[in-house]
Order: sequence, then structure tokens, then C-alpha cells
Amino acid sequence: MARKFFVGGNFKMNGTKGSIKSIVKGLNEAQLDSNVEVVIAPPSLYLQLAQAELTKAGVAVSAQNVYDKPNGAYTGEISVAQLKDSDIHWTILGHSERRTLLGETDEVVASKTKVAIDGGLSVVWCCGESLEEREGGNTIAVIERQLSALAAKVSGADWAKIVIAYEPIWAIGTGKVATVEQAQDVHAAIRKWLRANVSDAVADATRILYGGSVNGKNCKDLAKEQDIDGFLVGGASLKPEFIDIINSNL
Ligand code: PGA
Repeated sequence: MARKFFVGGNFKMNGTKGSIKSIVKGLNEAQLDSNVEVVIAPPSLYLQLAQAELTKAGVAVSAQNVYDKPNGAYTGEISVAQLKDSDIHWTILGHSERRTLLGETDEVVASKTKVAIDGGLSVVWCCGESLEEREGGNTIAVIERQLSALAAKVSGADWAKIVIAYEPIWAIGTGKVATVEQAQDVHAAIRKWLRANVSDAVADATRILYGGSVNGKNCKDLAKEQDIDGFLVGGASLKPEFIDIINSNL
């Protein structure tokens, strides 16, 4: 089954009204491969601005995070219903910066994913190992632990709302991209895990993105691999080369 190529831009805590308007203008005016689904994830303060400025078909706005409670006394958080109310239909969850800096556990990330999907959102769900875990030979075990926590919370049709992003922590923002072989090996292992633990249909249909120092130069080779279905892009999503990454297959 053909999986539609997917490219996400994770702006992280970057941008101003002016710069976000100009990134969206660049996307609106660009020639984008129509076979690619694109989401851009600005900081929550700018979600509505990005949404209002965006006119390009095939591009959607995504949050970077959401809380798993419906409403109430949760200072600093935003809810799934508030995203929906703002016409935002995507969120990233479980980014390693939230796992490591903000203390989100596998279980918290899985719970947020379930609540987001139940509330009608689609989720870019992130996983990935640290350098220490890779050097200790534990990469696949770590990913499988993260996937198991997810699979304990989501089921059946939920999987159609999930895009998996494999982001080795040592490659994020470091300029040190995983080799094509390293990325493909982990993507294949993720797909194998889905086949064994969820279903053939989910293994075949789920997009698995690579993230970690993707740029306009290294994207083309990565995109050729059979289990790499797109990218989650940080730093380069703020630059004009994001268009080249979206058009990796052209
Ligand atoms: P990077 O970030 O492209 O700047 O390495 C990727 C990510 O954290 O999603």
C-alpha cells in the first residue's frame, strides 16, 4: 500500500509574528509536490496566525504539544478542545525535548496521544534513543519500550490518526544526521514491531518519519529508503530549504 509522504516542520520555541508570516507566505507561494502532506507546528501563541495566513492546499497547522485534561486548573497548558476550537487538527506529542527537559514519561505521552485522538486530532508521535542508549546497543529496546507504552493506550482505528517520527536524540539540532542505513534499520524495526504487535494493516499504512538534522541536502537519499515515509524537521523548517525537503522526491 502506498503511504503518502509526510513532512512536518517543528518550529519549536522560535519565531515572531513577522517571521512566521513570512514562512507561511513562502509556503503559499511555493511549488510543492502535491503527493506530500505537510504540517507546520509554530509555538501555540502563533497557531491561529499561521492558520489565518495559510492558503496552500495540502498544508496544515499543528500544535507542538497538548494536555490530556479536558479543561480546568492546569496553568500554562492548552486542551484538545481548544485546539479543535481553533481549527487545529494536528499535534506533535512526545518530542524528546518534552520527554527529557519537561519530564514526560512514555505513559504520559501515550495518555496524551489517546486523549488527542479521542478528541479528534491526528498526532505526530515521536520516539528515539539517546546517544548513550545507542552506544549501549539499546536503540531498538528503547523504541520498543516507547511503542509498547503507546500500544497499551491506543487501539484499532486510533492508529490511522498516528504518524510516527523516529528522532534519535543525538541527531536533533546537532547537525549529526543518522546515516541512511541507521535510519532505515530503525524504521524497519518499528514497522516490524507494528506487524508483530498491532497488525499487518497498521504496519503497512503507518507513516514513519525520520527527524534529526534533516536538511535540503541529506533529505533526498533518506527519502529513497523504503521505510522512510517523510521527515520531521526542526531547524531547517524555519528556512527556505524546507521547501526542498518537502519536494525531496521530485
Ligand atoms: P532538527 O530538529 O531538524 O533541528 O534536528 C528535529 C526535531 O527536533 O524535530
